[in-house]
Amino acid sequence: MNLKLIKENVNKVVELCEYLDIKIAAVTKLICGNPQIVEVLVESGIEMLSDARIENIKKYKHINIPKMMIRLPMRSQVDQVVEFCNVSLVSDLEMMRLLSESALKRHTIHDVIVMIDMGDLREGIFYEDNIHTTINRARDLSGIRIIGIGTNLSCYGGVMPTQEVLENLVALKETLNNNYGLDMKIVSGGNSGTLSLLMNEGKLPKGINQLRLGASLFMGIGLNDEPIEGLNHNAFRLVCEVIEVKKKPSVPVGKIGLDAFGNKPVFEDKGDIVRCICGIGKQDVSPSNLIPIDKDIVILGGSSDHLILDVTQSKTDYQIGDDMVFELTYGGCLSLMTSDYVQKRLLYAE
Ligand SMILES: *Cc1c(COP(=O)(O)O)cnc(C)c1O
Repeated sequence: MNLKLIKENVNKVVELCEYLDIKIAAVTKLICGNPQIVEVLVESGIEMLSDARIENIKKYKHINIPKMMIRLPMRSQVDQVVEFCNVSLVSDLEMMRLLSESALKRHTIHDVIVMIDMGDLREGIFYEDNIHTTINRARDLSGIRIIGIGTNLSCYGGVMPTQEVLENLVALKETLNNNYGLDMKIVSGGNSGTLSLLMNEGKLPKGINQLRLGASLFMGIGLNDEPIEGLNHNAFRLVCEVIEVKKKPSVPVGKIGLDAFGNKPVFEDKGDIVRCICGIGKQDVSPSNLIPIDKDIVILGGSSDHLILDVTQSKTDYQIGDDMVFELTYGGCLSLMTSDYVQKRLLYAE
């Protein structure tokens, strides 16, 4: 993980958002809440930290800035959420009641942002469904303060953040404030996909004043995992070790059953090839999420602990013990960061 590249991304995005009066909640799930990286975020001007998992947020509980839970809280974790977070994203009256009770027990007030599902079909009150009843009833809960509404897009259903969808969200906040005498200030307009909209089209509807950003800060990617221009895209790399190099057939020998994952494998016969095995496997990352730096290598597949490559066309003569280097997709990075078997090394320069 190259912290210099991450820092440059954060500096750029912070500057842009500051200029537009948009607050950033940095999302730390991609780095599993790694406190050393979180320190770098805070040094670079990040003023709020957030994560989908309370376990990650607890890792940086000593860093004294506001924290937000961005996955709907689990009933079994309500007390922890209130203890370690200042804000939660919520979509359910019952959950707001539980948070309120827990906050009152701790003699605090817990802030909530009510999630609206604008069509992506992940979390949130489905647009216009029963938003009014929920907000109206939630006003009576004295342990919570409703500080805004928000949405998440381009995650499950792939619904794109557009000016129109986000304008509707801003308008809804105004309506709710007027109808229920609320003073909600925040409209949380989405993830790095929404930052793409801002950076590509040069604007977001006025009134969107919070973005929850992970992929863009760490990997420089946004909507559809496409690179955002002006950001660094290579802060994360996987280095793994070659454990076997041998010339063997390209098609298995014998009667073919199922592989270790229950699939029937298919093979293309290219005659004998130079096959290279690396000491990493599907328990750590799916081979389809790795991009070899050596463009002459083809990823053939893997098993739980082995990654198998065709290095026949490579100009490098790989030997046991050599490093094999890969760039990563978002999904690849996420699962590698989660694997305890992968050492995490921080670089402070290029
Ligand atoms: C993961 C997540 C984000 C951050 O998404 P990125 O694409 O990494 O910017 C924002 N909001 C919610 C609710 C999330 O779960």
